[in-house]
Amino acid sequence: MTQLKRDIDHLWLNEADSIALQQSLRDLDTAYQNFFKRKNGYPKYKSKHNHKQTYRTISKIIRIEGKYINLPKVGLVEFRQSRQIKGKIINATITKNASGKYFISLCVEEDLADDLKLNQGGEIGIDVGLKEFYTDNFGNVVLNPKILKRLTKKLIKEQKRLSRRMRESRNREKQRVKVAIVHEKIANTRLDFLHKQTTKLCRENQTIAVESLRVKNLLKNHKLARAISDVSWGEFFRQLSYKSILYGCDLIKVPTFYPSSQTCSQCGSKNPLTKDLKVRSWKCPKCGALHDRDENAAKNILAKALEIKNSA
Ligand SMILES: [Zn+2]
Repeated sequence: MTQLKRDIDHLWLNEADSIALQQSLRDLDTAYQNFFKRKNGYPKYKSKHNHKQTYRTISKIIRIEGKYINLPKVGLVEFRQSRQIKGKIINATITKNASGKYFISLCVEEDLADDLKLNQGGEIGIDVGLKEFYTDNFGNVVLNPKILKRLTKKLIKEQKRLSRRMRESRNREKQRVKVAIVHEKIANTRLDFLHKQTTKLCRENQTIAVESLRVKNLLKNHKLARAISDVSWGEFFRQLSYKSILYGCDLIKVPTFYPSSQTCSQCGSKNPLTKDLKVRSWKCPKCGALHDRDENAAKNILAKALEIKNSA
């Protein structure tokens, strides 16, 4: 690095945060180590032309002073702090996203005990779906945010427009930013919705029963709707996992091979006719109980989870 910095073609390196440069070298080293250990593929170049750009820096200089944050080489930057920081700042990642906004993510070491909360002790089983976001064992249906559908339509429209623009023209760049903004809105809407759902679930319940992800839903291909819900589910379970630790909940994953939608939650007998996804409600041929497909599945998921919990 020292040699490169003296090289006339690389003088621009002196303009960058030196700690971030060292960090990049270290990351490169890790990438090669992983490649040699056959953990990962050969390291790829990071494109200068990517619309999302990031760098990571570690320094004792990084600190918050009122409305400002101090960054190596950059100095004081005014910023909007999304949450209070309680611990020691380990590193900072600075990101410029596709629509041109800048973000800073701080990795902070904090005492978990400071963040622990109490839950209200309930028990809930949830069955995730395509049309609805999920149905619980009480028969409550949580829908996907309605605005997502409208934004998705808008995204398709703007993407079509982008594809008609001349390459490397100014209008194309303008349109690219427009597309990026719609993408951003979709991501933010989804994230906000997921956070509200997962916080509510963890705050209210001691036991949260879910089906371990996928398989069932991957069998059906609904393209866009599926793509959106796929991303959502991954993030939903990720949030549930870490929030359940904060709230002290038992998050129990029921194996997917358990036939939750074919079993009568009242008498336990199996009804293979409900394998057909079109069957939304059914009457148990053995005990006569009337079932809503998803509510029944959620009931079974909860029962199975409690079984797993008690046998552990
Ligand atoms: Zn039955």
